Amino acid sequence: MARLAERFTDIFCMRIKTPGISEIPGVYARTGVYARMGVYARTGVYAHIRRTSRRSVISGMGYHRGVMRVDYHVHTEFSNDCNVPMEEQCRAAIAAGIRQIAFTEHEENNPREFLPFSFDHPAYLQELAHCRARFGDRLTIRAGIEISEPHRYPVETERVLRRYPWDFVLGSLHWVSAELNTGAREFFTSYGGWRESFRAYFREMLNLARSGDFDILAHMDYPARYCAPYIDGAYDIREYEDEVRAVLRAIIERGKGIEINTSSLRKRLSAPCPPQPVVDWYRAMGGAILTVGSDAHRSDHVGADIDTALQMAQQAGFTHIAIYEHRRPRLVEIEDVRVGIGDWRLEIDV
Ligand SMILES: [Zn+2]
Ligand SMILES: [Zn+2]
Repeated sequence: MARLAERFTDIFCMRIKTPGISEIPGVYARTGVYARMGVYARTGVYAHIRRTSRRSVISGMGYHRGVMRVDYHVHTEFSNDCNVPMEEQCRAAIAAGIRQIAFTEHEENNPREFLPFSFDHPAYLQELAHCRARFGDRLTIRAGIEISEPHRYPVETERVLRRYPWDFVLGSLHWVSAELNTGAREFFTSYGGWRESFRAYFREMLNLARSGDFDILAHMDYPARYCAPYIDGAYDIREYEDEVRAVLRAIIERGKGIEINTSSLRKRLSAPCPPQPVVDWYRAMGGAILTVGSDAHRSDHVGADIDTALQMAQQAGFTHIAIYEHRRPRLVEIEDVRVGIGDWRLEIDV
């Protein structure tokens, strides 16, 4: 039963990774040792018919644990700007009704970074295994990492991604160049005006989107979090539509995705990062892979404003968001995520 379900998931993942196919396939058929047919209905019902040489039996019916509310961007004490133990983040997630979480610890390769941001990967994975054993009946925990500028440090990135069994990789642009951190004053004054700084940021992001090794592009308009003291007018992402669309095009072409990061709402900004127009453009361009995350560095921020992010996705026309395992995306219905309807599987030996 479990084995068949897994095989079904494999096929299902292969289908959704095909660029341009944004919806879960309604029907698929496959021949081989088995002739199998799977039907997916909007309510989350699968039916499997398996043909073997044995007589017909109903082999069973099981509840596939549905993914409910998720948070795919959370830090723990393995990140040097966070001091919350992983266990505590797990408890906070469970208390917030989160059923699946990805811990995405900072991995920095820029020698100018203020803090030593690489973390102890084996210790992290050991703690993750401990938390899975302790909370696994209530919380699915994915092994994630948030890599800064993976396109600028391809050798280091490849080394860490190949060596450990990651489920999920965020790619971030924290440093617009090797010298300029996006949160620093100099970033907003170095390009002949803050508007040009944003433009430079999105241009550099295109390089990341085109060649970096990652799954999801994190917090797309990250400088918006820090720009308030340095700008003399209103920041409006629509001024950078051409640059942002170029990034989105590269993301879609490479089968990668973007996230809706809700941390900006906690920094008194009016919208998540990126805001609604970007999610609308992405959807209209054929984007299918979208994750949601709080970017929590504190336990009371785990799961914060995830429902707002899901509403934004729906407003843009998304019916599904992505979750990851072994770096493979799987789409789950937003309504399932929010109300917790699971998937039933019926398997019949014929
Ligand atoms: Zn980040
Ligand atoms: Zn982060």
